[in-house]
Amino acid sequence: MFQKILIANRGEIALRVLRAAKELGIQTVAVHSTADADAMHVRLADESVCIGPPPSRDSYLNIHQIVAACEITGADAVHPGYGFLSENAKFADILAAHNITFIGPSGDHIRIMGDKIEAKRTAKRLGIPVVPGSEGAVSDEKEAKRVAAEIGYPVIIKASAGGGGRGMKVALTEADLEIALQTARTEAGAAFGDDAVYIEKYLQKPRHIEVQIFGDGAGKGVHLGERDCSLQRRHQKVWEEANSPALNAEERSRIGEICANAVANLGYSGAGTIEFLYENGEFYFIEMNTRLQVEHTITEAITGIDLVHEQIRVASGGGLSVTQNDIRFHGHAIECRINAEDPRTFVPSPGTITHFHTPGGLGIRVDSGVYSGYRIPPYYDSLIGKLIVHGRNRVECMMRLRRALDEFVVDGIKTTLPLFRELVGNPDIANGDYDIHWLEKHLAKGE
Ligand code: ADP
Repeated sequence: MFQKILIANRGEIALRVLRAAKELGIQTVAVHSTADADAMHVRLADESVCIGPPPSRDSYLNIHQIVAACEITGADAVHPGYGFLSENAKFADILAAHNITFIGPSGDHIRIMGDKIEAKRTAKRLGIPVVPGSEGAVSDEKEAKRVAAEIGYPVIIKASAGGGGRGMKVALTEADLEIALQTARTEAGAAFGDDAVYIEKYLQKPRHIEVQIFGDGAGKGVHLGERDCSLQRRHQKVWEEANSPALNAEERSRIGEICANAVANLGYSGAGTIEFLYENGEFYFIEMNTRLQVEHTITEAITGIDLVHEQIRVASGGGLSVTQNDIRFHGHAIECRINAEDPRTFVPSPGTITHFHTPGGLGIRVDSGVYSGYRIPPYYDSLIGKLIVHGRNRVECMMRLRRALDEFVVDGIKTTLPLFRELVGNPDIANGDYDIHWLEKHLAKGE
């Protein structure tokens, strides 16, 4: 087992990892920018190292500073959290070259899944259902037209190097195809330095359903059920549920088994998420994230398994603590992402939190790195906390969520709490009746 883990992240996820390490009796090192000197993850870690000025590229994305911090403190492993360097294959390779364990998959697996065309090809080879579309990149308009005619309109053009919802264009008919192809290609070239694009069928009212998997790196794989993350705004998840209100037990185990077998065959190591669009009873692979997700907490709530413990165990060579048969699902969980943003315009609202009171009681978990008197720096993402609620069934979970939202107090800044108070009372949400466009349509109506 590791002696000392350096946590290459900040905010609630740095605390999340720190807690798991402490429980396992492992020393922790926090790294921080000058803007985060007073942050909670710095206060709670055994040691801390300042790695640079506020901008992420000079601190949390600065590989040399982070490797130097490992060497100064003698850390033998690094947990990257999510975002920042968590899906940076070069970082994983550099750590390996320094004999420091990256708590995550191999650089090669990160690389495959970071290239959307390669990821889709790999998924297909492993028996995962994919969205019908081009085999690889499309080179010209003629080929694009041929593929689109074959799969049928509407189609979506996507950048192979894409991420964060950028470089995607929809063509409703053949007349739109030329422009869509050109714009997607130009955007992809400008944003990612790689203008390779591919085409797939555009699904009109899908849900976003993702499967949590774990590989032990030695040919074993398990799944921990799915999460429904259809409630999104600009491709950013807002509210997540486990299990999905749309799936039955048979569909759950069918897609779960497909994913578990795929990661086993890939020889994948650590936590991962296989993301699908789901429409008319069919699953369509869109991407795989090779890291812990923000919303891993709802999977923890319904399985009782600490996913960060498992990540650390697997990375240290100790294997998974559970087999597929040990994994059982209990009740229902919902996560609300509480952002320091105006609840109507979503404009970030940095500033000082004058009062912070979190709800409590049975079935409530709050993961947050902030406290009363904390000043939110303007340099990073606006997530200030996650409210995770668990109940024996979805109805109980929603009742408890409503009560927890009433108790939550954040003064001094604007937050998205009022949005969740509205959502929890909405009949469509109560019925679990929503797709990936529901939230944006609902917000547009409210304006
Ligand atoms: P990124 O990595 O940029 O987030 P994804 O492939 O994960 O790209 O897609 C992001 C979002 O774009 C999806 O959650 C979905 O809303 C939409 N999308 C992607 N592919 C399709 C598709 N074939 N049909 C409909 N919507 C899609």
